[in-house]
Amino acid sequence: TSNKATTPIVSLHNTSKHYQQVEALKNINLQLDAGEVLGLFGHNGAGKTTMMKLILGVIEASQGDVRIFGVDPQSKQAWHSRRQIGYLPENVSFYDHLTGLEVLTYFSRLKSVSKQQVIALLEQVGLTAAMKRKVKTYSKGMRQRLGLAQAFLGEPKLLLLDEPTVGLDPIATKEFYQTVDALKSNGASIILCSHILPGVEQHIDRAMILSGGKQRAMGTLSQLREQASLPVTIHAQG
Ligand code: ATP
Repeated sequence: TSNKATTPIVSLHNTSKHYQQVEALKNINLQLDAGEVLGLFGHNGAGKTTMMKLILGVIEASQGDVRIFGVDPQSKQAWHSRRQIGYLPENVSFYDHLTGLEVLTYFSRLKSVSKQQVIALLEQVGLTAAMKRKVKTYSKGMRQRLGLAQAFLGEPKLLLLDEPTVGLDPIATKEFYQTVDALKSNGASIILCSHILPGVEQHIDRAMILSGGKQRAMGTLSQLREQASLPVTIHAQG
């Protein structure tokens, strides 16, 4: 029997991370399955970025385990698994003087993605007409969709999106998530960090709420509403 079908995409088991005195994450437990979209909610400083970094293998857990596709992301054997992750950091910036096509071509070389796939991806994110324009002429929404295309190069099995719609107006936000929905139809799992719920809720399967590095709640939105855990996050806007 194949182990692959049952191996979670990401699993954290009693995972903690501290920076000197700061407990950025404490006893986090998560199992993300194939095709699942997890919303990760919390105020600034709640530990969301730290969780992304642990999954990427950029930092090491202080306690507990981190696994991506069943392996420790810090281990040498994880090189293949790490290539299966697409990452859109918060406040991503591109070379303003390159065109959208040039930006994506540059990143595509790092991932051995063909020009044809680059062109197809630009179309999927709605940037075909703008691909020969310099990025400095792009709106915020267009930049974020270029960021999404960059994260999606090579069809990763896991996408990490950190606050992807901060500063976008409601229409650009909607367009961004519609693009995410279209891209994920290939079965990718997604972790979507946000400090607000509106605009995100219809795009996620489950949510984890972090505050002060602790996992306050985890479940589907209706489960969380029943536990009255959600207002914490909704009020995080103000
Ligand atoms: P934001 O949305 O502002 O990025 P976040 O939820 O992503 O917030 P983290 O960046 O993970 O939060 O930070 C969690 C806590 O860990 C914060 O108190 C932060 O100040 C602290 N922290 C993060 N990185 C370091 C570091 N390298 N050294 C010391 N403390 C850190």
